[in-house]
Parts: sequence; C-alpha cells; structure tokens
Amino acid sequence: MPDIIHLLPDSIANQIAAGEVIQRPASVVKELVENSLDAGATHIRICIKGAGRTLVQVIDDGKGMSATDTRMAFERHATSKIKKADDLFALTTMGFRGEALPSIAAISQVEVKSRKAEDELGSLLVISGSKVEKQEAVSCAVGTSVSVKNIFFNVPARRKFLKSNETERRNIFTEMERIVLANPHVEFTLIENDVETLHLPKAGLRQRIVQLEGKNVNQQLIEIDEETTLGKIHGYVARPEFAKKGRVNQFFFVNNRYIRHPYFHRAVMTAFEPLIAANEKPSYYIYFQVDPDTIDVNIHPTKTEVKFENEQVLWQILMVTVKESLGKFNAVPSIDFDTDDAPEIPVFDPSRSASMPRVNLNPNYNPFRSPHSETYKSSPPAFGWEQLYQGFEKEVSSGGEADNTATLFKPAGADQNLPETDLFPEHYQYKHKYILTSVKSGLMIIDQHKAHVRILFDKYLEQIKNRQGVSQRVLFPEVMELSASEAAALPSIMDDLEALGFELSNLGNNSYAVQGVPSEIDNGDPSLLIKSMIGKSLETDSDVKSEIRESVALSLANLTAIPHGKTLTSEEMLLVVSQLFACPTPTYTPDGQTVVRVISDAEIEKKMQ
Ligand code: ADP
Ligand code: MG
Repeated sequence: MPDIIHLLPDSIANQIAAGEVIQRPASVVKELVENSLDAGATHIRICIKGAGRTLVQVIDDGKGMSATDTRMAFERHATSKIKKADDLFALTTMGFRGEALPSIAAISQVEVKSRKAEDELGSLLVISGSKVEKQEAVSCAVGTSVSVKNIFFNVPARRKFLKSNETERRNIFTEMERIVLANPHVEFTLIENDVETLHLPKAGLRQRIVQLEGKNVNQQLIEIDEETTLGKIHGYVARPEFAKKGRVNQFFFVNNRYIRHPYFHRAVMTAFEPLIAANEKPSYYIYFQVDPDTIDVNIHPTKTEVKFENEQVLWQILMVTVKESLGKFNAVPSIDFDTDDAPEIPVFDPSRSASMPRVNLNPNYNPFRSPHSETYKSSPPAFGWEQLYQGFEKEVSSGGEADNTATLFKPAGADQNLPETDLFPEHYQYKHKYILTSVKSGLMIIDQHKAHVRILFDKYLEQIKNRQGVSQRVLFPEVMELSASEAAALPSIMDDLEALGFELSNLGNNSYAVQGVPSEIDNGDPSLLIKSMIGKSLETDSDVKSEIRESVALSLANLTAIPHGKTLTSEEMLLVVSQLFACPTPTYTPDGQTVVRVISDAEIEKKMQ
C-alpha cells in the first residue's frame, strides 16, 4: 500500500486557515483597520464597494513598510508585533498572530502600496489567491494602502455563504463602531461606493460618542472614572431614564480593544437594577486600562473575549463605580454633564424624560366650561403642573367657547356633553392603551396611540409647510433599495421628506443612502419609514401637493406615535393630553378615527344599577 498522507499546498492550507480569521467583508475591514492602528495611523480611510464584496480598501498614514516587509507580511505567522511567547503577555497592539494578511490574500485579490517616511519610493505588491503576481517600486504617499478585491473569488462555497448586502454592510458598521469608539483620537473616513458616508474627526471620548450617536446623547451620559491598583475604569453610562427595551449601545473595551464580557455586563446591570424596569437596558461605554500581563487576549480566535486575572475584584469595583456615579448624578443632577449644547427635546418621546410641557393652546378652543382653578392653585401637583395650569388658566379666563368645544367633543352618533375637566387631576393608564381621566360630565377615555398620531400629524404637517424639521445625521447611513415604482414615486415626496429632516443621497440604481433622519425619530428603521411613506403616497393616488403632504405626515405619525402597550408615566400622560388639546381637532385622527370619548356619569350610573 502506498503512503497516502501528503502536505497540502500552502494556498489550500491558507484558504482553510483563512476561514478562522476571515468570515466576511467585515472581518477584512477589522483586520486592516487594526493593522493601521498598530502602525500608528492618525487618519484612516476606509473605502467599500458592494458592501465589501467587490472592494475593501484601507488607506492609512501610519509608519508604512519596507519592500521586504511588505512581502514578508503575507507569509503565515509573519508579524512584527511579537518575537517570543512572553511577548504575548505584554501586548500593546491589536494584532499579534501574523495571520490576517496571508488569510486575506488566500481568498481575494490584494494590492498593497506602502512607503516608510525615510524611503523615497514605496512598493507595490499584487497577490491573488496567495500567488504573488507583481512587486515593484512605486511612488506613493507615506503609509499603507491595502485593497482587497473580490473576497472569496476562489472559494465559491464561502462566497455563497455571504448574506445580503444590507447584512454585510451592517456587519462592517458593527466592527467600525467598536473600532472608532476604542480610538477617538484617530480620524476615520468611510467612503461607500465613492460617496463619503461617515467622517469622524479626531475627538475626545465624549465627543466621539456624540459624533456617533447624535447630539441628544450628550445630556444622557454620566461619566464614570475610577483608578485602583488593578487598573483604571473610565467611560460613560447613560442616565437610567434613557434605558430602553430595544437595541442599546453596550460596549466594554480593555486597553482600547473591544471585548464582550457577559460577567462584567452583569456588574453594570446590578448597579442599574433598582433604577430601571426589568426589561429595559441601559447604554454604556466602559473602558478598562489594565496591565497587559493581567489579561489573556488569546483565548478566542476573533479575540472579542478576554480573560481577566482579577475578574471578581474588578466586578465589584465596576459595580460600585457605576452605582456611585449614578448616585452622585441623582443627588446633584446637572453637575456631571454639560447641557450647553443639549438640544431641546422637540416632541414627546416616551423613552426620554419629559421636559416641562410648553402649552400652545388654540385660542378658538376651550374645553373647560367652568374651571376649578382655585382647587389647583392651592395644591399644585408635584411635577410642575403649575406652569401647565397657568397656560390653561389664561386660556380659561379668556372667555367661554363652550359651544365650539361641545361639537368638537361630540363623537359620531352620540349626544354627549362637553367634558368639563378638572384640568386632568388624575390620570390613569388602562391596559397600556388608554388614558382615563374624570371630567365634569363623566369619564374621559383617550386612546394614547391615536392621540399621539393626531399630535404628530399636526406637528409634521407644520414642519413640512415651514420646512423646519431638524435633521440628525445617522451613524451608519443605511442603504435603501427601492423598487422601480417606489423610485419613481420618491421625487414627488422628496421635498417633504427633506422638510421633515430626512436626508437622502442618490447612489444610483434605485438605491439611496439615508444620511439623516428627523431628530425626533431615534427608534425604527428609517428606510422602512420612508418606504411606508412612499407606499402611502402611492395609495393616495393624487397629484395634489397638499394631499401628498398629508399622506406623508400621517404615515410618519402612525409609524412614530406611542404604540399601544407602552407604559406611560404621569408626566407623559399629562404631556400627551396637554398637547392633544392644543390641537385644533383633538377628537379625531386625521383619518377620522375616534381619539377621545366621554362616558357620561348617567351611563356609568345606569350600568351600576
Ligand atoms: P499581525 O497584525 O498579527 O502582526 P498581519 O498579518 O495583520 O499580522 O500583519 C502582518 C504584519 O504586516 C504586521 O505585523 C505589520 O508589521 C505589517 N503590517 C500590516 N499592515 C500594516 C500597515 N497598515 N502599516 C504598517 N505595517 C503593516
Ligand atoms: Mg493584523
């Protein structure tokens, strides 16, 4: 029997090994950008085409490589970062395995240009599927540019395994988010399909978080800062009232490397526990600086899991540090963070704390036939109803418009009297759906979702008319792919979308990058919102501008209004009710659904016989 074992050719061995390091375009981005950081770059440009399938190019102004090093860098286990096993315990670089470049070169077509400052010429190296095709001297800028084209071109099975462009793009952003948060002092530019979609100038940590998440976040951040013999813990946690149910930002970094750490996560959650609901999650950005020999970054091939030598003690320190900062903040609100730049919160958003409502009453409308202002004056409610009340009082004393309101409150088919309210002395939320309050003539029931639709519709329509929507740049512009009919309909509402604060840039081929969204929308998928508005405008089937506007405003209002099922605080209910009754037609939604009904005392009385 002949011997059957033989060595695999390098190219196949590399392809197999590449699977460990390079799973998708996002892995290429991560590895290349980490190399640039290790090379001391101060500005890193990332160019992406076709969600990274066609091209990932990373250009840095780091220290560059000699011609020999450029070639050596593609040998397996070739690294400049460690020399001996002990170095593993003193790591100060992101990379150390010497696997990334050979892995990338095994499954794509790579072109590298690199030059060191002291060299006059740089070198160009072209490799395709591990085979060196060209190396020559070229003139190029100091630093390194690595282009990775046609990932998995020679491994069709893996290429097939890639997900939709949208998903691959999202993965790239997820990697980038971690890297840019770990390196605020480095400038980053992202260029997608030749369009610059993200530019982050060098910044401090708080600034970098704000660059990424938007200005509103600034006022949410509480700083944490603790130095012990075991290391330093620094960063920010979001104030508990900004905790959310959906996706939140939860980041740990150790020595500027993003890590996952479920155990430390529990320490943060323990500190937050008494302050947030069980199903809510707080955002946090927490940075450990520890002696490199007290961590082991070597336990996981993609290196997001890191083992700490002093895990239990650090757990305690972290928990106490977060708790203390939250406590300090609660004791002295507004000292910890600067609010100079903080924007005014323009619209009700249940995930944020309610700012004092400003009441803009419609002068033609008075729901209060006989005000009970005296009762109120003697005991203003604790959370600042007084100002609200003053608004009402002014309105009330300006004279009765009772007949007008009587009709406004008359639900179809019912003969009900004007509710004469006690300025909403109690609110009660029923089944997370209705706001109930007693009014003079009975029990008023307000549908929280429909009420908010009415409020937002009026607001959005106003914004469209006055072109006053405030846009907020999004961190990672989403690419929205439209059908031919959607793309054809888009121009008819483009003006209105822009007036609301949407910023779209045309990428060609019916694709658009959503670069900005109305500042009040921070949940929800913007491309879904836009598509739904396009859909509605198509259904409206009208060329009349005002009708199109109304359909845009209504569908956005429907999509962004407080849903049924959302628990509201007293302040939030008050805000909804006060804003609702500042609308000219509070009783119905723009499409004619009932927002408010009153069950008369007589009806209740009858039921209770
Ligand atoms: P590792 O980063 O683990 O050392 P890589 O395969 O990623 O392994 O890179 C191999 C070597 O190539 C690095 O150790 C570094 O010396 C060099 N190198 C790679 N990218 C760059 C770059 N952008 N600038 C300078 N040197 C680089
Ligand atoms: Mg590397």
